[in-house]
Amino acid sequence: MSDYSAFHRQTEARLLRYAAVTTQSKHYDGSWPTTACQRDLAKLLYDELRGLGLRAEYDEAHCVVYGWLPAAHVEEDRPIALVAHVDTAPDVKGWDVKPWVLRAYPGGDIVLNEAEGIVMRAADYPNLAQYVGQDLVLTDGTTLLGGDDKAAIAALMTLAEYYAAHPELPHRSICIAFTPDEEVGGLAQDLDLEKLGAKFAYTIDGDHLGWYQDQTFNAAEAIVTITGRSVHPATAKGIMVNASDLAAEFLTALPSKEKPQFTDGVEGFYYVTSLQSDCEHGEIRMIIRDFDRQNFRARQDRLLEIARSINEACGQERVLVTLNQQYRNMGDVLEQYPFLVADLEAAIRAAGLEPKSEPFRGGTDGSALSFRGLPSPNLSAGYENAHGRFEFVPVPSMAKNVEILIHLTEK
Ligand SMILES: [Zn+2]
Repeated sequence: MSDYSAFHRQTEARLLRYAAVTTQSKHYDGSWPTTACQRDLAKLLYDELRGLGLRAEYDEAHCVVYGWLPAAHVEEDRPIALVAHVDTAPDVKGWDVKPWVLRAYPGGDIVLNEAEGIVMRAADYPNLAQYVGQDLVLTDGTTLLGGDDKAAIAALMTLAEYYAAHPELPHRSICIAFTPDEEVGGLAQDLDLEKLGAKFAYTIDGDHLGWYQDQTFNAAEAIVTITGRSVHPATAKGIMVNASDLAAEFLTALPSKEKPQFTDGVEGFYYVTSLQSDCEHGEIRMIIRDFDRQNFRARQDRLLEIARSINEACGQERVLVTLNQQYRNMGDVLEQYPFLVADLEAAIRAAGLEPKSEPFRGGTDGSALSFRGLPSPNLSAGYENAHGRFEFVPVPSMAKNVEILIHLTEK
């Protein structure tokens, strides 16, 4: 009988250690990694992997860490990569993080910071009720925790420790990789797939224990540039072309209910992220999201069609739509490799949980990796309330994830 009892203590100690290291990324301004501090954790993880006896490599320039566990006692090796990200989100304060553990959460409100009177109210966070009786890693209420994605890193390092300490156990070849800048669209672009040595991967990220994702949005950005003609309003008749009016016309032509605030599940949308205009010049920025490939294409065509019809009415090309492809639905790739999800579901069940999945209304590094030739579904890391001051990680969720990863790799 396998003994998994140490995972609780090991993952907890690791998360406390990793969360205290600042690794906040920032919006891209010309260089990757976006912040040098991410290397502090990368270097620590590299040293730790080597300390566990793994062959490891640290690509310091790109801030990517690799650690390899060669296959043991398996007839047919099926190498697999397991990927987590070192950065934390730029949304709220992410430095000076002071994680602490609440033992055996008794239920009800949690005082995060006595001095500042910061309380996590059970009424505001109904997910807390699922974790009564569990040890919770929390913040001091002034920063995020960074359980996203350090809960995954803690589980992966504990997996490495377990296999390193038990050479008698069978498992396939495993490459553990840690990458920067997931939160700001880095898309694991500097992960060297040749070096990795696996044809398939799982990213470990996302909230709630026992969940996984094999569908993400298709995503594009549209920049609508509008050229007007300014002239004194007193003598404008027949001369002025007001870019602001054309911008309004463009926006009015969009379907009024296909917006983030009116959609969920597998419904796609247009989201106008910014609008700036005066008479002479206008610019609309928007993002387009859809799970379905055809609908996604149709949404982009629709923008081109709106521009065409306005231009026709103007008798001149005044509206120009530029489309930038961002990421694609990993499901289009993963459907060719159904065993990846089957294996993952079996591993979650073997750990005593019922697997749950719903299409992810965003993108993951796995979306990009899948299209680069490394099909990569996502297993949840088990954190809660990510990207905020009320983020927390139930320690049993991390311990359970180590178990899931053992079942995923043991044959
Ligand atoms: Zn994440």
